[in-house]
Amino acid sequence: MTIRFDNRVAIVTGAGAGLGRSHALLLAERGASVVVNDLGRSREPGREQERVADQVVAEIRAAGGKAVANFDSIAEFEGAQRLVDQAVSEFGRLDILVNNAGSLRDKTFGKMDMADWDFVLKVHLSGTAYCTRAAWPVMQKNGYGRVVFTTSNSGLYGSFGQSNYAAGKMGMIGLMNTLKQEGGKYGILVNTIAPVAATNMTEGVLPADIVPHFNPAHVSAAVAVLCSEQFRQSGVICSAAAGHYALVQVCSTLGLQLDPSAAPDPETLVERWDEIADDRAMRVFPNAGAETTAILEAIQALRAGVAP
Ligand code: NAD
Repeated sequence: MTIRFDNRVAIVTGAGAGLGRSHALLLAERGASVVVNDLGRSREPGREQERVADQVVAEIRAAGGKAVANFDSIAEFEGAQRLVDQAVSEFGRLDILVNNAGSLRDKTFGKMDMADWDFVLKVHLSGTAYCTRAAWPVMQKNGYGRVVFTTSNSGLYGSFGQSNYAAGKMGMIGLMNTLKQEGGKYGILVNTIAPVAATNMTEGVLPADIVPHFNPAHVSAAVAVLCSEQFRQSGVICSAAAGHYALVQVCSTLGLQLDPSAAPDPETLVERWDEIADDRAMRVFPNAGAETTAILEAIQALRAGVAP
């Protein structure tokens, strides 16, 4: 099986550098027409921003691929809408959206200015929602779409000093879990990549001797899978870094089912906490309703005197 994106049109946000650049290069190399979005970067405060998206477009074209640049900020809905409109007006359709753009404003929560909270949530969570919302009707009409979100182990597991970033990155998992249900009947699949790679964002974080292993290309290979026509799953969180690939799931312990006809004392729950917390067997629910159904089944089993 060969993964190709011929006749497919892709948007990659924040693709002027790092992971986004790498995703854009791979999608273009495999036949996609790519809109390379990046609002740019200024190396020194007050200096004009580098139009990094132009450089990536030049690289793609030099290799024989098709690409155009877009400089809108995806942290505003109007910018996200212009980005989607540009993809459709330049290339006539939109099949793939890789939500990748992001930046950090790290501080411990007690010292965090709420402006830094709002800024980071706006780029990561709202920016992802804005671009996806702008792309949604186009993909619905086409009956096809591959949408990728970019989360982080900071959100999935927590990271000291990154409460705003972690909240934004985990918020998008809730968004994905709902969109996987709403998009399915239109052929729109929504999946998430959880990368680690050596980029501007992680400069100085990874030990120097292992930096070469953390090439963004390792992550882009997994992104290409999630963007491919052959991939049929929706709602997957794929962790990708330095040649390691795994799926991350939100799961539940089997838990404890008490008689639901009366609420227990809190002390009862304390006494039986080990049973509630027993994580030797875990369950994954495909949607919220499935969890409620499982509880109803446990109640019925309890009433019938059958161990659930
Ligand atoms: P990077 O800083 O190299 O690239 C991010 C790009 O996004 C930059 O070029 C920046 O100009 C652009 N950008 C920022 N705000 C934007 C906006 N509002 N509109 C358009 N473009 C914008 O960082 P990276 O490491 O390549 O990160 C890419 C994504 O991967 C981010 O969402 C990041 O949170 C996520 N991530 C990265 C790592 C890692 O190890 N590098 C780990 C977990 C998650």
